[in-house]
This record gives sequence, C-alpha cells and structure tokens, in this order.
Amino acid sequence: MPSTSSSEWNIPTDVFLYNDPSAKTLAIEEIASHIRGLFPGMRVEVRRDFISHHYRGSTEELAEKIARTKVRNVSDPFESFDPLLGEIRFEERLLERPESGISGVLYDATRLHLVLREMIPEEELSLQVVHAAFTSRLFGTYDIADARYHARVILCGYPSMISTSGIVEAPAKPREYYLMREKLRALGEDVPAEVLKEQIQGRFLDYDDPRMTEVMKGYSLQALFYAITHEPFCEDPECRLYNSHWQEEVLASQLGDKEFCDEHVSLIRRISDR
Ligand SMILES: [Zn+2]
Repeated sequence: MPSTSSSEWNIPTDVFLYNDPSAKTLAIEEIASHIRGLFPGMRVEVRRDFISHHYRGSTEELAEKIARTKVRNVSDPFESFDPLLGEIRFEERLLERPESGISGVLYDATRLHLVLREMIPEEELSLQVVHAAFTSRLFGTYDIADARYHARVILCGYPSMISTSGIVEAPAKPREYYLMREKLRALGEDVPAEVLKEQIQGRFLDYDDPRMTEVMKGYSLQALFYAITHEPFCEDPECRLYNSHWQEEVLASQLGDKEFCDEHVSLIRRISDR
C-alpha cells in the first residue's frame, strides 16, 4: 500500500521521458500530456532516447560496458565475463542505430541500470527529477526462489527503465499459449511463436501493438509513484499501478473502464493540489 501520509511524499518538479525510437507505436508526447493532465504542477519534458541524450563518450567503450551486463545463462546467477568482440560490435551497432531496436538479448537489470545511472549529470540526479527511460532492451532480474532470470517490464530507480520488449515478453501469455506449445512439442513439432500467437490474438500486447501507448501510460505512472511514495505498485487489479504478471492483467489494468483505484484517485488529487 502506498504511503498515505503526505509528509512522507517527495513531489518531483521535473519529469523527463526518454523515447524508444524503435517502438513505432509508442507516442511519447501523448504519455507526457497524460502526466501533465494528472499533475499540472510538474514540468514534463520529452527527450530522445536516454543514451543519445546523455552520453558523449566513446561508443566502443560504452558498447563494452553494456555487453558486460548481458545474461549469458538464464538459469545461473549473474557472472561477470569478458565479452567477445562480436558482442561488443553488436552493441556498437545498436548504439549507433537505436531505432533498429529488438535484439533478443537479455540484460541484467541492475547492472544495466548502473551503466545508465552514471550518465545522469549531477544537476539532474535528484529526488526532484524523475527520469523514465523507455528502451527496447530486454532486462531481467534473477530470482533465487526458482533459480532463473525473469524478464521485467520496469525497473524503478534513477532512472527508471521501462522496456518496450519487456512488456511483450515478461508478463505471461494466456495459459492456452503454453499448453498448445507443450502439446505441439510433445508431438515433435516446433511451431514458430508467430503461429501460436495467432491463437491468442488480442489477448496479449505484441511488438508495435497499437495499444502500446495506452499501456505505457500506466508504467510511466509507476515510475512517477516510485519517486513520490516509493511504492510504484497497487494491489487492485483494476488500477493502472497494478503489478501485472499476466498479459491479460496488463490489458485489464491499463485498458479497463476504471483508470485508478479509489485510493490512487484520491492520492493523485492530493498530490496535484499541493
Ligand atoms: Zn491503485
């Protein structure tokens, strides 16, 4: 539950939204307008992608740093390694052409986060400033409970990272999808994901989905609430701050009739009145 005591709130003055130029259906200006509508007192600015905006150093150096955050084996805890030249070149190409997007690589969320964090200039590294960086990079965290990495949609912090591929890959698809896949595998058939996806069309968010912007409005607010109350998530599955684990929960919480639970409606009102 969020802190309802307003004395503990940290109200940011500035919100910087960083675009993911590879996400064709992400209308970042629309997300900015949504935040301005809810919190008229905050200055919301749209910027190009986080790295292009902040980084001025050597591309090769940064490519190596990012390559070092790659998860090599999803069932092992993170181990540092020396990236191969090919892996560094791959990252270089992605840095040179951020609009090319999706790479199929999984990065360790906290390590990738540290690389981005050190790019924020001192004057903008403040609790008063929210940095919400959309990225096509897929990142995950290692879960000791089931001894594997799980992809994430959002990692809150300074900056908060929101993944446009994580929203497709991290929340689980409807159960039929996995049952169908298992059944076909048992028959020795390796059916491409695209064919399986057709069977559950509309019930999950796909790459370049026309609903991407609407869904990402909620995740941007999670980043904002992390800064304000330190609690980005809500327990109400109809609230945009709900921490969805299933695709159908993402769609229900972000596209449903209700935008927020009563408690968050009142919190937003109290914050914007201050
Ligand atoms: Zn709520």
